[in-house]
Amino acid sequence: MIIVPEHEIEGLVSASDCFTAVERVFASMAQKSAYNFSVIREAIGHADALYGFKSGFDRESLALGLKSGGFWPNNMEKGLTNHQSTIFLFDADTGKCRAVVGGNLLTALRTAAASAVSIKYLARPDAKVLGMVGAGHQSSFQLRAALQQRPFEKVIGWNLFPEALDRLAKVAAEHDVPFEAVDLDRLGAEADVIITITSSFAPILKAAQIRPGTHLACMGTDTKGKQEVEAELLAAATIFSDEIAQSVTIGEAQHPVAKGLISPNRIIEIGAVINGAHPGRSNADEITVFDGTGVGLQDLAVASKAVDLAVQKGVAVVVDF
Ligand code: NAD
Repeated sequence: MIIVPEHEIEGLVSASDCFTAVERVFASMAQKSAYNFSVIREAIGHADALYGFKSGFDRESLALGLKSGGFWPNNMEKGLTNHQSTIFLFDADTGKCRAVVGGNLLTALRTAAASAVSIKYLARPDAKVLGMVGAGHQSSFQLRAALQQRPFEKVIGWNLFPEALDRLAKVAAEHDVPFEAVDLDRLGAEADVIITITSSFAPILKAAQIRPGTHLACMGTDTKGKQEVEAELLAAATIFSDEIAQSVTIGEAQHPVAKGLISPNRIIEIGAVINGAHPGRSNADEITVFDGTGVGLQDLAVASKAVDLAVQKGVAVVVDF
């Protein structure tokens, strides 16, 4: 069995490796050659933790396994990150455990890769201004990945606590792109592409704040009850998602579906656009939303890449198991 420790991931797997892996697995999902199993997520009644599994099988790459992990809110006091993830890969021919891979950085990279894939396929080609809503841990990964997809001339950002926006300003500066903190009205009025990456449980962006032609990647809502944008905004948009079943249960689409504003069959899998089965954006005035809920197959895809690279570079720890 191969172990790829968390501390090896940074030097091993690039954002571009993750982009390629996630783009490919989304395409496989739409072709029905890869599928996710049901998500398990439980409040375990200890350490205020939420714990669960995301899992699946990709018949093309033979990636089989799960990501185990969750959220331990008191970890900061122990010098650990609150989100803890480990990815387990199994041999699809024998069921033997093939690899254990540190999943913390990979989770951030695969989540950023998903919104970047949506920008590649759905944002207007002439998009110039990128709007960021949220400035927590994931936001810098999101911003870096998005900046690879269009020659953005400016980044504007909003966060509940504006002092945290320094994190985004630094990433923008690394890429020589100007950054400005703005209110939500300006963000909606000026951004061509918007990424939302917060843990909000109430809509932050309203439908009336978004102008025609905007692409939104809604990435923060990954649990029942969370919400970043008004349900009416999704109702007025063309909605794409990583996986429709997750979108309507734990994603942003849970809200317009519950309100009866949309039916699930209006949601298009992003993989269908990647495969060319759906045209994606149809005109420059259309509002497109990518509801990125985070699927187990993304984790398996990037962990498989990490294992391949670890073996190639001689940093894989091999144990008899
Ligand atoms: P974090 O705790 O580091 O940051 C949270 C962010 O949300 C901060 O910007 C904070 O200001 C903002 N926020 C919190 N409550 C808010 C409110 N009521 N209104 C407006 N903003 C609010 O978290 P993170 O690691 O950056 O993760 C952000 C979100 O992304 C979480 O909800 C997390 O579960 C989700 N996530 C999604 C995926 C996916 O695949 N879709 C993957 C990883 C994380």
